[in-house]
Parts: sequence; structure tokens; C-alpha cells
Amino acid sequence: MLRFRTPGRGFTTRFAPAPTGFLHVGHVASAILVFGMARAFGGRVLLRIEDHDRVRSRPEFQEALLEDLHWLGFSDAVETSRQSDREEHYAAALQRLSEGGLVYPCSCSRKSIESVASHAEGEIPYPGTCRRAKVDGAAHMARRVHLREMSIGFDDLRLGAVSQNPTAQCGDVLVRDRLGQWTYQFAVVVDDLEQGVDLVIRGEDLLESTGRQVQIARLLGRSTAPRFLHHALIKHPGGQKLSKSSGDTGVRDLRSAGWTPSRVLGAAAQALGLSNGEPLSIDDVGARVFAAGNA
Ligand code: GLU
Repeated sequence: MLRFRTPGRGFTTRFAPAPTGFLHVGHVASAILVFGMARAFGGRVLLRIEDHDRVRSRPEFQEALLEDLHWLGFSDAVETSRQSDREEHYAAALQRLSEGGLVYPCSCSRKSIESVASHAEGEIPYPGTCRRAKVDGAAHMARRVHLREMSIGFDDLRLGAVSQNPTAQCGDVLVRDRLGQWTYQFAVVVDDLEQGVDLVIRGEDLLESTGRQVQIARLLGRSTAPRFLHHALIKHPGGQKLSKSSGDTGVRDLRSAGWTPSRVLGAAAQALGLSNGEPLSIDDVGARVFAAGNA
């Protein structure tokens, strides 16, 4: 069963789906914790549409995500924002880092990075090629932020104290890519900082990203890192990770197969370890989260 430390009252958290596919049971599990935590322990929820990837984001997915959330009863976010409306905020943040001498242009392709790396698998830390070469920065070129080698600690309400070393994991972080798109790693840090998010609840697939996000936030002047709650990933019964294309776990598909909101909430709560799979109303969700936090 899921257990975590309670956050204390008065926090701001967020639900931040990317409109690159339909809502699936994994999203519902995150939403249960985000909205349930706010209901159970007195916090506010911001809804953020993370459409930083202009190639894969689609308005019809955004519309469907919002509609499915509403159908499930997750309608108490106090504010909705969209990353594509916040480009000048990312540009201003990049400017601040540049003034501190921390940003450099990068012309490396993924292929060229892979070819110099000795790591056979997993994430390849950027070897700093363009930082050392002092590449001339055409305006359209990608940008990286130089991270100092250090260990970064943060507090996770489920996992306890976590320590990571971003330079060993990923090296200097890409903040804007070759297409001029703001990266997830950068946009999410600027948003969480400027929107006052102090509790980040999301799946464990993003745990590896957290240290670098805390480090970039510090460089942008954030004095206190948010607290985090990374929940276990929701898997298919066969053990595979859910994807947005998994027809069997898409909320749309479950709806057309006749599932009610309570049945979907019940299944997602069970997958999280919050219940035994019985149907749950949106009000039950807050009670289940409350019980898991107090146990
Ligand atoms: N946009 C991310 C996703 O849909 C979530 C990012 C986050 O919570 O930091 O998986």
C-alpha cells in the first residue's frame, strides 16, 4: 500500500500533462494524488498544459485531456496555464542565466554525442564539447546551461532524502533545442518557480530529472527547493510501462467501453496502492489520500 509523509497545509501543487496523446490511467493516478493531496491536506492545484514540444503537441489532445479530467471530476484547479503562452518567461530566464555566464551555444546532434560516449546504455551525460570549443553562437542555435559538479539533495515525501549528481547523470542541460523549442527540463523549472509551486507530485519516471531541475532552479535564484512526491509507475498487468497509445488504458477507450468515472478512479487508485479496486467517487479520492498520508 502507498504511504507518504503529509505535506502540511497551504502548499501549491500542479497537474502538468503534455498534450501529446490522450489521458491514460497513469495520468489518472497522478491526478488522484495531486488533487487528492490538495483536498486532503489543504493545498491548491494549478493545471499546466505542457505543450513545449511543438512538434508532438496537438490542440485536439489538449481539448480531450481537459474534457476527460472534467468527466472524472478533477475540476478544482485554481488556475490553468499553457507553456506555449509563456515563451517570453523562458526567454527572460535564459537571459538571466546568460548574464551570469552560465549559458553557451551548442551545435552537437544527438548522434555526435552518442558517438563520443562510452556508456553503452541509459542516459548519456553531455561531454561539454561545445563549452570547451567555445562555439560561436548563432541566434538560432541550441543552448545549454553549464552545471557545476556537485551533489544535489531533495526531500521526497515517499522516498525520503534523495541525493543526485546531475553532471554525472546528464552533464550540461539543454535549455533550448535546435528547433528553438524550450526543453521540458527548463520550462518546468521556470514555471514551478514563477508559479509558486512548492510540492511537485509526479511519476517515478521523472525522478532522475529532479536533481538537475533543483540545480537549475537554484541558478535562477530559487532559495528553497520544492518538496517532491514521486509515485511508483503504473504498469500494465503484464508489467510494461503504460504509453499514451495503450488503447486498453486510455480514459477515452474505457469511457466508450462503458466505464463510469468511479470505476476509472477505483482502478487507478488500486494501481497506486490506495485501495482494493472498488469504485471511488471524487470525494472518496481525498479521503483515501488522507488515509495514506496519515498512516
Ligand atoms: N509533462 C509531464 C508529463 O506529462 C509531467 C512533468 C512533471 O510533472 O514535471 O509526463
